Amino acid sequence: MRPGVGEWGRVLGHLKDEVGETAYRSWLQSLRVESIDNGEAVLVAPTSFLRNWVATHYASRLLALWRLENPAVDRLSLIVDPQVTTAPRAKARIAEPSEVPAISPISSELAEDKGNLSAPLDRRFTFENFVVGKPNELAHAAARRVAEACASPVHTVPFNPLFLWGGVGLGKTHLMHAIAWHVRRQAPGRKVIYLSAEKFMYQFIRALRFRSTIDFKEEFRSVDLLMIDDVQFISGKDSTQEEFFHTFNALVDQNRQIVITADKSPADLSGLEERMRSRLGWGLAADIHPTTYELRLGILQSKAEQAGVRLPQKVMEFLAHKIVSNVRELEGALNRITAQMQLVGRAITLESAQDLLQDLLRANERRVTIDEIQKQVAEHFNIKMAEMTSARRARIVARPRQVAMYLAKQLTQRSLPEIGRKFGGRDHTTVMHACRKIEELLGSDRAFGEDVELLRRMLQS
Ligand code: ADP
Ligand code: MG
Repeated sequence: MRPGVGEWGRVLGHLKDEVGETAYRSWLQSLRVESIDNGEAVLVAPTSFLRNWVATHYASRLLALWRLENPAVDRLSLIVDPQVTTAPRAKARIAEPSEVPAISPISSELAEDKGNLSAPLDRRFTFENFVVGKPNELAHAAARRVAEACASPVHTVPFNPLFLWGGVGLGKTHLMHAIAWHVRRQAPGRKVIYLSAEKFMYQFIRALRFRSTIDFKEEFRSVDLLMIDDVQFISGKDSTQEEFFHTFNALVDQNRQIVITADKSPADLSGLEERMRSRLGWGLAADIHPTTYELRLGILQSKAEQAGVRLPQKVMEFLAHKIVSNVRELEGALNRITAQMQLVGRAITLESAQDLLQDLLRANERRVTIDEIQKQVAEHFNIKMAEMTSARRARIVARPRQVAMYLAKQLTQRSLPEIGRKFGGRDHTTVMHACRKIEELLGSDRAFGEDVELLRRMLQS
C-alpha cells in the first residue's frame, strides 16, 4: 500500500463533499499520493495544467483537510507525473488570454512562516481581498484595528482577546491571515503565530512526548500576536485546555495580543471549562453574520476580477441569488465556471452556468413546501399555525404571515394566486403587497433581516 492511502481517501472524500461531484471528477479524482515524508505530502497530477489548477484552487483546502486526518502533514507539494512530462505536450485549446485566470505555483500560494510553529498563510487572504459588507463590518473593523495596533511602533492592545465567531465559510480564517500578513509586512520584527486549534493541540502533545514542554511554553509565551483558529475543537481535551489557559493568561498579562476564532460565541462554546469561557469573553467578541445578497455579489465581482475572468452580470446575480450557504461554495461555483470557460474557450451564459452548477444549486435549493414554510414561520414567531390562514389582521400575526408569503414566493415555484389560496384564499395582490413590504423591511431592519435569513436557512437545510 502506498503511504497514507487511507487518509488520502478520507481527505478526498471530504473535499468531494465540499466541491461537488463534477469538480471532483474534473480536478481531483486523478491525483495520487506519491509520498508523505517529514511533514511533506507529495501529490502527483497527470498533467501540468491539472497540477496548476489544483495548486491554485484546492491546495490550501486539501492541506487543511489533510491536517485534520493527520496533523503531522504540514506541507503539500504537487508534482506532474514524470511519465507524462517527458512525452510531447499536446496542444490544448484554451480560452482567450484575457479570460485565463492567473495560475500561480503552489509555492507562492502557501508561504511558510518564518517561525516553525506557525502554520502557512494563504496569500489570497489579505485585507485588500476581503469584501466588507454589513454582515462582517464589525469583525473586519476589529481585525484591522488589531492588525494596525500590532504593527505600530507603540504597540498597544485594543481588546484582548479579539474573538471572531460565525458559521462555516464566512471569512474568519481569511481575517486572521489578513492580520498576520499586515503585521508581517508592516512590522517584520514582530513575532506572530497563527495556528489551528488542532495544530496547537498537536504541538502540545508532541512537546509532552519529547519532553520539550518548557521550550514549547517559551515559544508560545514569547509571541507578540497569537492567533488560534477554530477553538471549538479544543474543547474536551483537558490537558490542552489547561495549557491553553495558562498560555493565554501569561500572554494577556504581558500585554500581548490574542485573536481567537470559533463557530460559536464564547458563551456557547460547550466542552470548555467555565473559567476559560469567561476569559475568552473579556475582550471583544465580534460575530460574522450570514452573507446578504449584496455581499455575495460584491465578493463574486472581486473574486472574478482577481482571477481575471469576465462574467456576464446576469450570471453573477444568478449565483449571488442562488448560492446562499457560504462564501466557500460561492467560490467553488466561480472556480468551476472559470475552469469551464478556460477549457472550452467559450463565454458562459446563464443557461450553461445553470447546467454546470446543477448539484450546487440543488443543494442550495431543497424543495420546500408552503406548508413547511407556514409551520416553521409560525413556530419561529410563536403564533398558531391557524393564524397563517386566518383573517386576523393584528400586526402580531399579520407580519409573520407576510414573512411566510415572502418565503413561499422565494423558495417555491408557486405563482402568486397559488400562494394566496394557501393562505386562507387571499388575493394575489395581497401576496404581492406582502412581498414588497418584507423586502422593504429587509433593507431597513437588520435584526429582522437576520430573522428572515435564519428562517430561509432552516427551511433549506
Ligand atoms: P471560515 O474560516 O469562516 O470558515 P474562510 O475564512 O476560510 O471561512 O472563508 C472561506 C472562503 O471564503 C475563503 O476563500 C475566503 O477568502 C472567502 N471569503 C469569505 N468571506 C469573504 C469576504 N468578505 N471577502 C472575500 N472573500 C471572502
Ligand atoms: Mg476557518
